[in-house]
Amino acid sequence: MQNQEIENKLRTQDVKPTAMRILVLRTLFNSRSAMSLSDIEQQFDQADRTTLYRTLKTFESKKIIHKIDDGTNAPKFAVCVEGCECNPEDLHIHFHCTNCEETYCLNNISIPTIELPNQFTLNQINMVVKGLCDDCSQ
Ligand SMILES: [Zn+2]
Ligand SMILES: [Zn+2]
Repeated sequence: MQNQEIENKLRTQDVKPTAMRILVLRTLFNSRSAMSLSDIEQQFDQADRTTLYRTLKTFESKKIIHKIDDGTNAPKFAVCVEGCECNPEDLHIHFHCTNCEETYCLNNISIPTIELPNQFTLNQINMVVKGLCDDCSQ
Protein backbone atom coordinates (compact mmCIF):
# COMPACT_ATOMS: atom_id res chain seq x y z
CA MET A 1 0.00 0.00 0.00
CA GLN A 2 1.24 3.47 -0.95
CA ASN A 3 1.88 6.22 1.60
CA GLN A 4 -0.73 8.34 -0.16
CA GLU A 5 -3.42 5.70 0.45
CA ILE A 6 -2.35 5.36 4.08
CA GLU A 7 -2.54 9.12 4.46
CA ASN A 8 -6.03 9.20 2.97
CA LYS A 9 -7.16 6.42 5.27
CA LEU A 10 -5.96 8.39 8.31
CA ARG A 11 -7.65 11.58 7.11
CA THR A 12 -10.93 9.75 6.46
CA GLN A 13 -10.89 8.52 10.05
CA ASP A 14 -10.08 11.99 11.41
CA VAL A 15 -6.50 11.25 12.38
CA LYS A 16 -3.76 13.72 11.50
CA PRO A 17 -1.31 11.85 9.25
CA THR A 18 2.04 12.31 10.97
CA ALA A 19 5.12 10.52 9.63
CA MET A 20 5.07 8.15 12.58
CA ARG A 21 1.41 7.22 12.16
CA ILE A 22 1.87 6.59 8.46
CA LEU A 23 4.77 4.24 9.18
CA VAL A 24 2.95 2.31 11.88
CA LEU A 25 -0.22 1.93 9.84
CA ARG A 26 1.75 0.85 6.76
CA THR A 27 3.50 -1.79 8.84
CA LEU A 28 0.14 -3.15 10.00
CA PHE A 29 -1.33 -3.01 6.50
CA ASN A 30 1.57 -4.93 5.03
CA SER A 31 1.49 -7.68 7.62
CA ARG A 32 -0.47 -10.81 6.76
CA SER A 33 -1.08 -11.59 10.42
CA ALA A 34 -1.95 -9.46 13.44
CA MET A 35 0.96 -7.83 15.29
CA SER A 36 1.71 -7.30 18.96
CA LEU A 37 3.30 -4.12 20.28
CA SER A 38 6.64 -5.96 20.45
CA ASP A 39 6.28 -7.15 16.84
CA ILE A 40 5.79 -3.55 15.75
CA GLU A 41 8.56 -2.28 18.00
CA GLN A 42 11.00 -4.64 16.27
CA GLN A 43 10.36 -2.86 12.97
CA PHE A 44 11.25 0.55 14.41
CA ASP A 45 14.74 1.29 15.63
CA GLN A 46 14.23 4.84 16.80
CA ALA A 47 10.69 4.90 18.10
CA ASP A 48 10.12 4.29 21.77
CA ARG A 49 7.48 1.90 23.05
CA THR A 50 5.32 4.60 24.62
CA THR A 51 4.99 6.48 21.33
CA LEU A 52 4.09 3.29 19.50
CA TYR A 53 1.60 2.35 22.19
CA ARG A 54 -0.04 5.77 22.01
CA THR A 55 -0.22 5.55 18.22
CA LEU A 56 -1.98 2.19 18.47
CA LYS A 57 -4.41 3.56 21.06
CA THR A 58 -5.30 6.43 18.72
CA PHE A 59 -5.86 4.04 15.82
CA GLU A 60 -7.98 1.81 18.00
CA SER A 61 -10.20 4.63 19.25
CA LYS A 62 -10.66 5.85 15.65
CA LYS A 63 -11.62 2.35 14.49
CA ILE A 64 -8.70 2.05 12.11
CA ILE A 65 -7.39 -1.04 13.88
CA HIS A 66 -8.81 -3.49 16.40
CA LYS A 67 -7.21 -5.25 19.34
CA ILE A 68 -7.30 -9.03 19.50
CA ASP A 69 -7.06 -11.12 22.63
CA ASP A 70 -5.84 -14.41 21.18
CA GLY A 71 -5.30 -16.11 24.52
CA THR A 72 -1.55 -15.38 24.56
CA ASN A 73 -0.13 -12.78 26.92
CA ALA A 74 0.41 -10.26 24.15
CA PRO A 75 -2.62 -8.51 22.65
CA LYS A 76 -2.42 -8.28 18.85
CA PHE A 77 -3.51 -5.49 16.53
CA ALA A 78 -4.89 -5.70 13.01
CA VAL A 79 -6.30 -3.24 10.50
CA CYS A 80 -10.10 -3.04 10.35
CA VAL A 81 -11.87 -3.60 7.06
CA GLU A 82 -13.39 -0.59 5.28
CA GLY A 83 -16.48 0.70 7.06
CA CYS A 84 -15.90 -1.29 10.26
CA GLU A 85 -17.54 0.27 13.31
CA CYS A 86 -16.19 -2.39 15.66
CA ASN A 87 -19.77 -3.28 16.68
CA PRO A 88 -20.64 -6.88 17.59
CA GLU A 89 -22.15 -7.32 14.10
CA ASP A 90 -18.88 -6.19 12.49
CA LEU A 91 -16.82 -8.73 14.38
CA HIS A 92 -15.11 -11.69 12.77
CA ILE A 93 -13.41 -14.81 13.95
CA HIS A 94 -9.70 -14.81 14.72
CA PHE A 95 -7.46 -17.78 14.08
CA HIS A 96 -4.43 -18.52 16.19
CA CYS A 97 -1.89 -21.00 14.80
CA THR A 98 -0.52 -23.17 17.57
CA ASN A 99 2.62 -23.89 15.55
CA CYS A 100 3.90 -20.52 14.22
CA GLU A 101 1.87 -18.61 16.85
CA GLU A 102 0.62 -16.10 14.29
CA THR A 103 -2.89 -14.72 14.68
CA TYR A 104 -5.03 -14.02 11.62
CA CYS A 105 -8.24 -12.07 11.02
CA LEU A 106 -10.76 -14.24 9.24
CA ASN A 107 -12.63 -11.19 7.98
CA ASN A 108 -15.10 -13.21 5.94
CA ILE A 109 -16.25 -15.41 8.81
CA SER A 110 -18.57 -13.55 11.14
CA ILE A 111 -19.34 -14.58 14.67
CA PRO A 112 -22.65 -16.49 14.99
CA THR A 113 -25.50 -14.68 16.73
CA ILE A 114 -25.45 -15.29 20.46
CA GLU A 115 -28.80 -15.49 22.29
CA LEU A 116 -28.17 -14.28 25.81
CA PRO A 117 -30.51 -14.92 28.75
CA ASN A 118 -32.87 -12.10 29.79
CA GLN A 119 -31.19 -9.12 31.46
CA PHE A 120 -27.79 -9.98 30.03
CA THR A 121 -26.46 -7.42 27.57
CA LEU A 122 -23.72 -7.95 25.10
CA ASN A 123 -21.05 -5.41 24.30
CA GLN A 124 -18.10 -7.48 23.17
CA ILE A 125 -17.39 -10.90 21.72
CA ASN A 126 -14.03 -12.50 21.34
CA MET A 127 -13.88 -15.68 19.31
CA VAL A 128 -10.54 -17.32 18.67
CA VAL A 129 -10.23 -20.55 16.74
CA LYS A 130 -6.98 -22.44 17.25
CA GLY A 131 -5.27 -24.88 14.96
CA LEU A 132 -2.71 -24.92 12.17
CA CYS A 133 -2.57 -22.17 9.56
CA ASP A 134 -2.23 -22.89 5.84
CA ASP A 135 1.56 -22.64 5.95
CA CYS A 136 1.91 -24.94 8.93
CA SER A 137 -0.63 -27.59 7.92
CA GLN A 138 1.29 -28.59 4.80
ZN1 LIG B 1 1.17 -21.39 11.35
ZN1 LIG C 1 -9.56 -9.12 13.23
